[in-house]
Parts: sequence; structure tokens; C-alpha cells
Amino acid sequence: MSNTLLDTPIEFLKGVGTARADLLKTELSVFKFGDLLYKFPFRYVDKSTFQTIKDLSYDGVSAQLKGTLVSLELVKGANNRRRLVGLFKDSSGFVELIWFQRAKVLSEILVAGAKYVLYGQLKIYKGKKSFAHPELELLEKAEKSIKGAFDPVYYTTEKLSGRGLDAKGIRKCMVALFEKLSKRDIVENLPEYLLSSLKLMGKYDALKEVHFPTSQATLEAAQKRLKFEELFYMQMRLLQTKAIRKRDIKGFVFEIVGEKFNRFFAEKLPFTLTGAQKRVIKEIRADLGSGIHMNRLVQGDVGSGKTMVALMCMLIAIDNGFQNCMMAPTEILARQHYQSVMEYVSGLGIRVAFLSGTVKGKKRAELLKMLAAGDIDILIGTHALIEDPVIFKNLGLAIIDEQHRFGVEQRAKLWRKNPAGPPHVLVMTATPIPRTLAMTLYGDLDVSVIDELPPGRKDVTTKHFTETRRPHVLNFMHHEIKKGRQIYVVYPLIEESEKLDLQNLNSGYEMLLQYFPPENFNISVLHGKMKPKDKDFEMERFVSGKTHIMVATTVIEVGVNVPNASVMIIENSERFGLSQLHQLRGRVGRGAEQSYCILMTSYKVSKEGRERIDTMVRTNNGFEIAEADMQLRGAGNIEGVQQSGYMDFAIANLATDTPILTAARHIAEKILHADSALEDPKNAIIRREIVKMHKKHKNYGRIS
Ligand code: ADP
Ligand code: MG
Repeated sequence: MSNTLLDTPIEFLKGVGTARADLLKTELSVFKFGDLLYKFPFRYVDKSTFQTIKDLSYDGVSAQLKGTLVSLELVKGANNRRRLVGLFKDSSGFVELIWFQRAKVLSEILVAGAKYVLYGQLKIYKGKKSFAHPELELLEKAEKSIKGAFDPVYYTTEKLSGRGLDAKGIRKCMVALFEKLSKRDIVENLPEYLLSSLKLMGKYDALKEVHFPTSQATLEAAQKRLKFEELFYMQMRLLQTKAIRKRDIKGFVFEIVGEKFNRFFAEKLPFTLTGAQKRVIKEIRADLGSGIHMNRLVQGDVGSGKTMVALMCMLIAIDNGFQNCMMAPTEILARQHYQSVMEYVSGLGIRVAFLSGTVKGKKRAELLKMLAAGDIDILIGTHALIEDPVIFKNLGLAIIDEQHRFGVEQRAKLWRKNPAGPPHVLVMTATPIPRTLAMTLYGDLDVSVIDELPPGRKDVTTKHFTETRRPHVLNFMHHEIKKGRQIYVVYPLIEESEKLDLQNLNSGYEMLLQYFPPENFNISVLHGKMKPKDKDFEMERFVSGKTHIMVATTVIEVGVNVPNASVMIIENSERFGLSQLHQLRGRVGRGAEQSYCILMTSYKVSKEGRERIDTMVRTNNGFEIAEADMQLRGAGNIEGVQQSGYMDFAIANLATDTPILTAARHIAEKILHADSALEDPKNAIIRREIVKMHKKHKNYGRIS
């Protein structure tokens, strides 16, 4: 079913032509009529309501005013550049207008004394209100053009605007497009039974309505339909990938729970598992025994005990004669896993080894030989584990800790390490991710959630202080050290300037030395530029309690476990993202003591920085923090999301469309459950759409 109109090259649209078409291609990836159709407005302006100048009260607010352009003047600036300055008046007062670009042209178009509708973003500087580059439309004309209640505003770029394709110009293109377009050109891609049961608008109507809304209610209905369609097919794709993998890939069967597991459980397990840990281990065990290939995500808050879950699963693999590997994103974390696993399994006759870039020469060669011969049961390390020459004899289970630093590509590499076939894969997140993101990023994985912390954990008390409270903070540090506790002081990584980083860290260290002199106190320093050997040395001194304070950059962020450390001081905390702050805070509160997290900031903090700090002070719950993070930054900016390739939504928004996504996934599951091959005639439309997707995404169905 080819669709000639939608496939028409964009240069043939009325008012476009070759020059603009070239720009549309490079700037917006619009090649054909159909591409333009899917460039949806990012907001709408209600043309029927106006504000008054008097009531505009904060910087950055969008405003629509009705009034008179009182005066207009071209002014020559210092560097000979002209700017256009105007004065605008409505019934409540005056406001200044200013244009730096196209000043001359605009001075000839705009008419002083005429009535206009003004649209722009208010600027308030030192109490004075102004608009830079407002859009003005003659009132008379504006009133004529108020067809619908809302005007769509399209995303555009500076280059496009320069060619007349500003938001308004794109709107004109859309009008031209819809003059050509009729219902016949738009193929409905949701089956009738879904449209009626979910009360969804038809596709053509929805497309027309989002571009040319007639009322708030119909606009919302149209958006809902298009969002549903987008999320539904994304979920279909993920769930089918998962189903195909389950059908086509045989997983090793771990039939027994044997001696190693049972002995560990009876003799070694240093605590009682939480209910959540038990449940998750059970879920994993069911996978491992099923003959289906496991690809499971374990989500759990910081400190929920994911490592123990991983270890117990590895014991099952060993009982069934398989090897294991566990990958961590940093050397320090990998070593720490190595040490704790060694301790846990000592005396059980399990062979544990460590591999990272620092293991070289003869030692490495020896290790690789043992690995290939099957003489190593658990290999722990960094991403060196998936580098080429590393080959296992029979890798049964691969555990990836703190997933978001490992890409899909790296997950795939693991598969080739094992001549015996694809190992079961267990992915563990460092911090929780919002449910909608989990459904998308890991939509093809099964998910287990550890939603319970080990008993006796006290919530970390979190405080926010500015520099004026420094003496108080130093006193508090003294106090805690006297009680036998240890303290982290963390400095941000400033990506643009590693030098500045170290400066910060070093001056912080110098400052601390004055208050904690070497005669009585020991301080460790740790940063990314240090040699691994020195890092280990400093870390080890802190872990064993020889040093009181650990001054570090974020290298300690993930996973590090020193239960006696009870204070986390984060300097310039406004520079950190929420999940990073939460991860850092998770380094304390690991023992029985009351722990503290102190967020230091400068006096001036941006609105968003302030919200992050407030969120941290308000809650200890990682799932809540993850959600707040997504609301603050938008889904597209969360780590790992960009690379996923699942995020190029034309209209859906994961941060706000949770209910639609949840419904879409639920319905996709139900349909596939009842009709896995989509053979039922009533699902023919879905099947056809998915075939189309296959063609578009060449990698579709590729196993990762
Ligand atoms: P995370 O989920 O952040 O990786 P860890 O696995 O590092 O957490 O566990 C955090 C701490 O909690 C460790 O010191 C670990 O020994 C301890 N722990 C794990 N499970 C339990 C439990 N059921 N009871 C008590 N302590 C536990
Ligand atoms: Mg961990």
C-alpha cells in the first residue's frame, strides 16, 4: 500500500521550493510530505485570552497582550549595530520592546501608533519589564485569523526562521499540506475494535485536530490518540522482541539447587534475607530452571542488597556446573565486589578471580587460560571482561551491576564470549528508574523489584547548608569522628575542566587539614587521575578505618560500601544530578548508626538546582527521586535514554504520559498473549503496521 501523497518530496509543497526544502531536510529531517505531517506543535497559544502588562509578574513568563505600539526607533549601538526599540501600551501600562536582529526590516514593517497583538516572553531585569524579539501581529489581522481557539506553535531553528520558516511559516506549510491531504491519504493503523473500546479518535481526524485544534477537549482527544498509537507500537515492538527471544533462544537449564547454595545458605549467609530479596531470588530461580533464556532487570534502591541476590544466583549456576561473571562500571567497585564475594564464599571451594585493565602480562595470560579451561567459577571485573580475548568455557550467568553505564551493544558482546551459547543475563540498576522508563528502556526485559531495605536501616538525615554554616559543619564532623565514625567529603566533577576539579578538591583538602591536623587525624584523598594502585591504597585505608575522612571526587559514587561511614558531605551539591546525589547519599546509612547527608551549596542556586536539593531533603525514597528527576529534566535527559533509540517520539512524553503508556503496554501484552503471531483477522492492521516497522528499523528483532 504505497502512499503517494505522503511520499511526495517536500520541495513540491506549495510555498516550499528547493532552497527551503534543503533546509527542512537538514534542520528538521523533513524530506517528504509525510515527515512534515508528524512535526507536531510543541505548544498551543490560546488566541482568545490576553494578559495585561500589570499582571505579568515573573521573568520568562509567556505573554499575549493586546495594545498599541506607541513608538518605534532605530538606535545605533556602540559597535555600529542597529537595534530597534519600541514602546508598547495596553490598558494597564507600558512595556519596552527590543529587537537586535532584522532591526531595519522590522522598522519598515511595523507601524507606530497601530494596534497589535503581541506575543513573547517577558524579561524582568532590575524591576524593569521588557520583551526581546516579540512577535507582533496587527490586531485587525489577528482577529480575522482566530479560526480555532488555539494556535499551534511549531519548533523551528534559527536557519529556518531566517528563510521565513519560523513557527508561523511552518504553520503556513501545514495549511498547504492539509489543502492537499484528504482522509483517503491517511491509513488508519489501529484496529476498529481498539478505537471503539478505548474511545480513540480516528487517525485522520486526530492529525487534523492536533495541527488545527477546534477546542481544548478535541485537542486533548487527538493528542491522546496519537500518543497511544506511538506508545502502543513501541511496546508491541519490545514485547515481540522479548517473545521472539524467549521462543528462539534456548537458555541453559539450571535444574538443581545444590551443595554450594545450600551450604552458603546454612553456614555463611551473615543475615536474614529480606522478603523482597527472597522473592526476587525466587523469580530468578524460576527463570533459570525454565529452559528459557533469562534477560532480567533487578531494580532496587541503593542499599537494598542487590549484591547478595546476585551472589546467590551465581551459586545456583555453580551448582549446575556453570561459570559466572559479574561486571561493574568502575575498578574500585569491581574490586570491592571481588573482595566481598571472596569473603562470602571462603571455605566453599569456589574459585573467584578478578580481571580489569590493570591485570596484565603473565598474570592475565594465566587467568585467561584458567577461564577457558573452566577453572574459574566466578570472574569479577570491569568492562575488561567483555574485551576480545576473554573466552569462557561455559559461562552460565552474566551479571551486570549498575547497568546504566553499559550500553546495549556491550550487553550483546557478552554473548560472543561463550562458545557454549548465550548466558543468562541479570542486569542490576544503580538507582531506581521511573516505571515508564523501565518499561521503555528495558521493555524487552523481565523486571524484578527489590522494594524493601534490610531491617534496622535508619533514614539518612539530609540537610542543606550554605557556606555561612561551614563552622557548624566542621564542628559536627569533629563530633562524629570522636564517636568513631568516618566521613566522606565529595567534590563535583566539572567536565569542562579536570584541572578545576583538582583545584577544588585540593583546596578543600587543605582547608580540612587545618581543622583536622595530621597529628590527630588521617585523611584519604581519592580522584580519577590517580593510579589504580594509589586509589586502592587510599580506599583500603578508609575501608579499614585507618583514615577518618575520605576526600574524593565522584569516583566513589557508585556501590562503595563502608558501613562505618556515617556522614556524607557533598560540596557544590547544586552541580550534581538527582540520581547522582541519591547514589552518593547511599554511601552512608549502611550501618546501624544514624547517618547524615549534608548538601553544601553556594548562596546562589538556580531554580532547578534548588528543586533538586529540596527533593533530596524531602525524601529518601529512590523511586520517588527518580520520578522527580524525570519530571525536572524530561525523560530524554536521563542517563542511558538517548542511546536507547526508543525515544524519538513525535508526540508522546514519558515524563507525563504514564497512564497512556501503562494502558498501551497492558493492551499490547493482552493482544500478544491471545494472538502471539497476530494471525487473528481483527489484528491484521496491527500486523501490517509491524511489518512496516520491520522495514524501517532494520535492527528490529535483533537480540541484544
Ligand atoms: P545495593 O543494592 O546498593 O547494591 P548492597 O548489595 O551493596 O546494596 O548491600 C548494602 C549493604 O546491605 C551491604 O552491607 C550488605 O551486606 C547489606 N545487606 C544486604 N542484604 C541484607 C539483609 N537482608 N540484611 C541485612 N543486611 C543486608
Ligand atoms: Mg550495588
